Amino acid sequence: MSTIHLQNLVKKFGDFTALKTMDLAIADGEFMALLGPSGCGKSTTMNMIAGMEGPTSGKILFGERDMAGVPMGRRGVGFVFQNYAIFTHMSVRQNLAYGPKMRGAPKAEIGRRVDAIAEMLQLTPLLDRKADRLSVNILQRVAIGRSAIMEPAIFLLDEPLSNVDAAFRAVMRTELKQLQRQFRQTMVYVTHDQLEAMTMADRIAVMDHGVLQQVGTPLEVYNNPANVFVARFIGAPGMNLLKGRPAESDRGLVIDLGPLGVTPPLPVEIADAVRRMRGEVFYGFRPEQVTLAEGGPGLSMPVSFVERIGARTIIHLGDGETAVKAVFDNDVGLAIGQTAVVAPAAEAVRVFDAASGLALRAG
Ligand code: ATP
Repeated sequence: MSTIHLQNLVKKFGDFTALKTMDLAIADGEFMALLGPSGCGKSTTMNMIAGMEGPTSGKILFGERDMAGVPMGRRGVGFVFQNYAIFTHMSVRQNLAYGPKMRGAPKAEIGRRVDAIAEMLQLTPLLDRKADRLSVNILQRVAIGRSAIMEPAIFLLDEPLSNVDAAFRAVMRTELKQLQRQFRQTMVYVTHDQLEAMTMADRIAVMDHGVLQQVGTPLEVYNNPANVFVARFIGAPGMNLLKGRPAESDRGLVIDLGPLGVTPPLPVEIADAVRRMRGEVFYGFRPEQVTLAEGGPGLSMPVSFVERIGARTIIHLGDGETAVKAVFDNDVGLAIGQTAVVAPAAEAVRVFDAASGLALRAG
């Protein structure tokens, strides 16, 4: 079984704690992305899974087996880094064949496996090219092929696409997902790029400052962020968060947003959760989940910027602490200086305790 269990995993470098008590269970055959900003501890976690670093405390189990003291070479993991690790004096074919050859696989089998992996990664026409003549994009593809050909039960990839160009990255996202589907490996994928995590992963472990913030499917972390960090970090742009105070009204519980006025009544389930706490809250809603409500109830705000991104247009409203972004089709007729009334969809509203940052959930 290629499950991975991280149990109370801690990593300190001197006085600095890079990873604080991480608990994570990765299922057999699961594609888990470790996602977070630079310095949050993703690579440190990955290096410990690989066996390149030892934990300060806590355990790593592969299946039932404790990996303490097991060197990298004996863990049965394939590892691909940000910087491709390939032999530039060899051809693509020789690079791909290197691992199986070292393991003493029969020649015919090596040939078969090289052909199959080359086909999958679109390297067939390049098999006899010397690696030093290839672009960074192709070299990273060869590096992935070199690890994948070993058919490791656990495949670890640390920002493998951060040095390749944008168009190629989009192609590789699809290919990596297909590769994993085919081999059914347990895959751990480190990235700071939420698009990569969202498009490829079965589940995402969102990290910040050495702390695991939330683990969930891409839609779970998008729809129901556990806290304000995840709400802001996931989504492009992230969730709008406006600080306010809960207030009773004759229509139900609303949030008083100060100069922005009061919100429409909160859905009953959220209202009950908000009533159970005291103090300020963040009223949250996704920029994609608002409508223009001319004349109706909503947040009336000046347009401060119009950002066209092709099929969609991001409208920036207000500024400072009360800034809001709203995403519309590109034919939205709003210009800087106009006032827009935006209404978040009731079912899309999320409320967070401003003191703890935690989501207030029903029940
Ligand atoms: P990035 O994407 O920038 O690599 P990351 O999330 O992978 O970020 P890590 O590389 O795991 O982050 O680093 C987490 C923290 O631990 C950082 O503050 C880093 O400076 C620190 N760190 C990592 N390795 C060491 C080390 N060998 N000695 C001291 N500090 C370290």
